[in-house]
Amino acid sequence: MFDVVIVGGGPVGACAGALLARGTRGAAGLSVALLEPRLPGPAAADARHDPRVVALSRASERLLRRAAAWSQIPPSRLSAYERMRIWHESIAPTSTAVLVFDAADVGEPNLGYIAESRALQVALLAAFVDAGGHIEAAPLTALTIGEEEVQVSTPQGTLGARLVVGADGAQSAVRAAAGLTVEARPYGQTAIVANVATERSHEATAWQRFMHDGTLAFLPLADGTSSIVWSADDSRAMSLVSLSDGAFAAELDRASDHALGRTSLVSERLSFPLMRLAAPRYVAQRVALIGDAAHVVHPLAGQGVNLGLLDAAALAQQVTNASAAREDPGALRVLRAYERWRKSEVAAMAMSIDAFDRLLAHGAGPVARLAQRGLSWVNASQEVRRFFIRRALGLSGELPEAAR
Ligand SMILES: Cc1cc2nc3c(=O)[nH]c(=O)nc-3n(C[C@H](O)[C@H](O)[C@H](O)COP(=O)(O)OP(=O)(O)OC[C@H]3O[C@@H](n4cnc5c(N)ncnc54)[C@H](O)[C@@H]3O)c2cc1C
Repeated sequence: MFDVVIVGGGPVGACAGALLARGTRGAAGLSVALLEPRLPGPAAADARHDPRVVALSRASERLLRRAAAWSQIPPSRLSAYERMRIWHESIAPTSTAVLVFDAADVGEPNLGYIAESRALQVALLAAFVDAGGHIEAAPLTALTIGEEEVQVSTPQGTLGARLVVGADGAQSAVRAAAGLTVEARPYGQTAIVANVATERSHEATAWQRFMHDGTLAFLPLADGTSSIVWSADDSRAMSLVSLSDGAFAAELDRASDHALGRTSLVSERLSFPLMRLAAPRYVAQRVALIGDAAHVVHPLAGQGVNLGLLDAAALAQQVTNASAAREDPGALRVLRAYERWRKSEVAAMAMSIDAFDRLLAHGAGPVARLAQRGLSWVNASQEVRRFFIRRALGLSGELPEAAR
């Protein structure tokens, strides 16, 4: 019998586990088990960078430090970025109208970090175990939700808990077993990710170009290469994936308008069909959803993991506080407070990401042209730039205590 069983040990589930097991200032940690059938091992020190990376905000950095996971990410798998350069294809990458966000504008050392996804997950799972968490390398096979407890079954046996947390990704089995519905809509786009060497230095800058048929980002890695995330309409993405490495790099050079000079692939190419997903309810009696199990957003703003880590911290805060006050951590009243808090924050972020996609990456017509020009208007005002930089740092909205 555990206080909490978490299903899914991706970055979001592992972070929730580490925070719940450690407890908060003034509230003791809980007994927590986590199910994850695909446990990753650490990469060999000399292994090339995996093409799956995530951009982490300052808020995420803070709560990863609080979870005691930050120092466990090898420095070679983490790189700080100091600037973002954002432009629309209607202008040149060297134009003074390119929107530049600079950490120096807000007196910060950087705007965030690019982390290898696997290194992040390994660090968080290690932090969870260090905090006394128990891992079962098994999938969920059945969930029985009772008045007083939940029974979580795996091929190896059954665990009891007062709360089950669904952190099992977009196809969440917990969500289905709890009868929670989901609204899903394909974007009709596919993201291609790969690592590339570039002729010119990335200058610790994240580069992003909006085009009429998608978005292309270059994210700077510690070894001097860059990770690309190219979200293109499905048919274009299919033809890009089928090209030879050389022909793909030539297309990439054209799509980036040679912003970083000539490129060459240094990894395989991976592709991900993109889908918008939103669960109308994040919670039910003794069940809470976090991360991609509750919401999936377009990767153009690099916010998926950041939103999920904030869910993890918000839920951990509500549940540990309830437990410290001798309340039942699986009670609907406690879980509803988490849902109210995070659902509105996620909905606001998802709406602005979709507006960027509609107007900047795919827009035609007067409103889109206005938005495209808006990028250089933002650039012209330091105050407006600062506002957006704070949002990029993840320091707006109601932050959980662990992220403050
Ligand atoms: C191309 C691309 C680029 C992205 N870039 C960024 C970025 O820059 N920044 C950012 O913040 N986000 C980014 N994202 C989003 C980010 O990858 C996801 O939001 C994030 O991985 C969600 O984490 P999660 O832990 O909720 O789910 P997942 O990472 O999907 O983890 C779910 C875990 O649950 C486990 N699981 C599944 N079923 C079961 C079961 N039945 N029993 C037990 N365990 C189970 C799985 O094995 C998995 O480990 C990007 C996404 C894409 C597609």
